Amino acid sequence: MRSVPLAVPVGFFAILILSAALLGQHQEASSSLASTPILGFSAAHAAAEHKLETEFQAIPSSQRAREWHRTFTAEPHPAASERNNQLADFIADEWRKQGWEDVTLRRYDVLHSRPRSVSLEMTTPVQYTASLREDPVDTDPDTKNPAAPGAYFGYSASGEVTAEVVYAHSGNPEDYDLLRKHGISVKGKIALVRYSNPYSYRGFKALTAEREGAAALLIYSDPAEDGYTRGKVFPDGPWGPESHIQRGAITYDYIVPGDPTTPGWASVTGAKHIAPEEARSLPRIPALPLSWRDAKPLLENMNGPEAPRDWQGALPIKYRLTGAVAAHMKVDMDASLQPYTVVEARIRGSELPDEWVLLGNHRDAWVFGGVDPSSGTASMMELTRAIGEMKSRGIRPRRTLVVCSWDGEEYALTGSTEWGEQFADDLEKKLVAYLNVDESVSGAASTAGPEGLSFSPAAVASLAPMLVQASKDVHAPSGKSLYEAWRATSKRDDKASAPPLDSGLVETRIGSGSDHTVFLNHLGRPVINLGFSGDYGVYHSMYDDHYWMENIGDPSFEYHVALTRIWGLVALRLANADVLPYDFGFNAVALDHFLTELELRNKVDTHKLKLKKLHERIGDFQRAGDELRESVQQDLASGGNTAEKEERLNQQVLQVESNWLDPDGIPGRPWFQHLIYASRYTYAHLEYPGLTEAVEKGDWKLAAEQAVLIEQAVQKNIELLHKAKASWEKNN
Ligand SMILES: [Zn+2]
Repeated sequence: MRSVPLAVPVGFFAILILSAALLGQHQEASSSLASTPILGFSAAHAAAEHKLETEFQAIPSSQRAREWHRTFTAEPHPAASERNNQLADFIADEWRKQGWEDVTLRRYDVLHSRPRSVSLEMTTPVQYTASLREDPVDTDPDTKNPAAPGAYFGYSASGEVTAEVVYAHSGNPEDYDLLRKHGISVKGKIALVRYSNPYSYRGFKALTAEREGAAALLIYSDPAEDGYTRGKVFPDGPWGPESHIQRGAITYDYIVPGDPTTPGWASVTGAKHIAPEEARSLPRIPALPLSWRDAKPLLENMNGPEAPRDWQGALPIKYRLTGAVAAHMKVDMDASLQPYTVVEARIRGSELPDEWVLLGNHRDAWVFGGVDPSSGTASMMELTRAIGEMKSRGIRPRRTLVVCSWDGEEYALTGSTEWGEQFADDLEKKLVAYLNVDESVSGAASTAGPEGLSFSPAAVASLAPMLVQASKDVHAPSGKSLYEAWRATSKRDDKASAPPLDSGLVETRIGSGSDHTVFLNHLGRPVINLGFSGDYGVYHSMYDDHYWMENIGDPSFEYHVALTRIWGLVALRLANADVLPYDFGFNAVALDHFLTELELRNKVDTHKLKLKKLHERIGDFQRAGDELRESVQQDLASGGNTAEKEERLNQQVLQVESNWLDPDGIPGRPWFQHLIYASRYTYAHLEYPGLTEAVEKGDWKLAAEQAVLIEQAVQKNIELLHKAKASWEKNN
């Protein structure tokens, strides 16, 4: 999934002074590429790495990416479908042919959810039967495929309801407050809400409707958000036509992701499952997604109070809060254990096989998955082909590369969560970073203008500098370096007069909604998400298909290949570096910024909560990070470090991210253990989750306790970096 940027850039970083880290690497290559330094590499190894990367970058082909894309989007392939399982076997076979090792199918038996039958009719004041289907389009034969499913939500409860319909805008808590002011309750009624204004995950809308006592929930796509108001609609443009339906899951996976009946442990064969009634992540009321075509009769027949101006959508009607409209809705879901398959493969590292760089993309789609996820799958298959080709030429990475094709991401981030839980012990020790690509191209190059699609990555702050540096050595489809293209699209998207500084390019706030979640929030490993984005209004609909990509999204498939290249380059640098290129000085800059932002946003009264000590500790962490980086960079430049010395340091810095974990988890959500990163229930990014939520509730005692926990984690990392620097400088 991932319909909106995982985090919303606020441009705050742009005003930060460049960290020393980025200044250090800002000296543009005046000499040839071969002599340009690479973070974490000695001069000699950087030259070899550049050579190897040039070879790597020559392999991926846009024609091949197009062919992979066609294969993966040829049929609907939701989780637990026969087609999705065939694709798992196909990927496994291809990876073997490409030369990948230890190709393994991991099976998980998880509580799955699929529709037996769904229906919706307006019964009053006039009869209308919702089609709950999308119209075929003549120019795109895939849309005539009878296997394309109709409207449903993964993990909707089953049920039958006949009740009055109330329009509740976006279905967020403040919307129900406004209804209450008008004397309108949704108790026992059907709440009709729309997507994305402002964006919140549909699973939060479901929980909110349930808490408000609604009997059922309908979520429709208003053309104001993803339809004709935005531009041309499919098949003439990237936006959603009248019958498009945004399917999706409504799981409460912001509380605990993965199989709802195995919270915190893996659904391997024979595992214990709790009863669905006990699962915290399962919705309790029936719900359905609607196209605007099916929602319009419900909205236009209401005769109650007019909705406020900002609740009015783009349909040519007067939006009202309620009145006169009743509907009959029936949702019958099959909820049973079904096998999900994660395909896993690796290329064992030549020197450090027990340090892993993990790459992943989910395979399951709501329908054809043109953007989500098969654009990412096509980019991944070109990446694995290129790495396999390098291996056949005798070039093996120093560290182990692991690649996974996840299953059931769309349901509850399920495959990656189960796999992460199964291999937690190994991952906590060995995982250098997880590099996630969900949608590699979620935007229309055809409407993007001269600067092209936005490069929109998010990364933990410690990896942001190396990502920026890598982007300088990849070409964007425009012919510029990806770095220059990134600056140009950031400037455009921020409506700024100048591009952001390097320190503001990478989004370091990370929400949920994709497969990085288990690795960051549960296992405390560094993550990066990569992708290009732009105009895209057919998310999770039948029209998100090969035709969309080939005619509207990325007709040349050059963006797919550019994504393969940057993904591969980051992976190769992490796999081959002498010293892992984490930048903790920059990490601290982000931490301090997050804290300042929290104080400003909540106008924290210093009599109620003292955060000065935490700021000071973060300042110490920054100094420790900067000093370690300087010391290491100097020694790398002069060369002559022993492998033992480098390895000792690598083992130490690998622990920094884990030190941000609190084994008790954040208050109310024990599965989420990271003290700095979590997501809100809407999937939006949430920094210092325990502290922030306590401050927002005005619970100053809990806030003070949370601040102490963070302080202790920062202190632990300061000591770790001091120790690492001392042992780096003392020994060889
Ligand atoms: Zn996805």
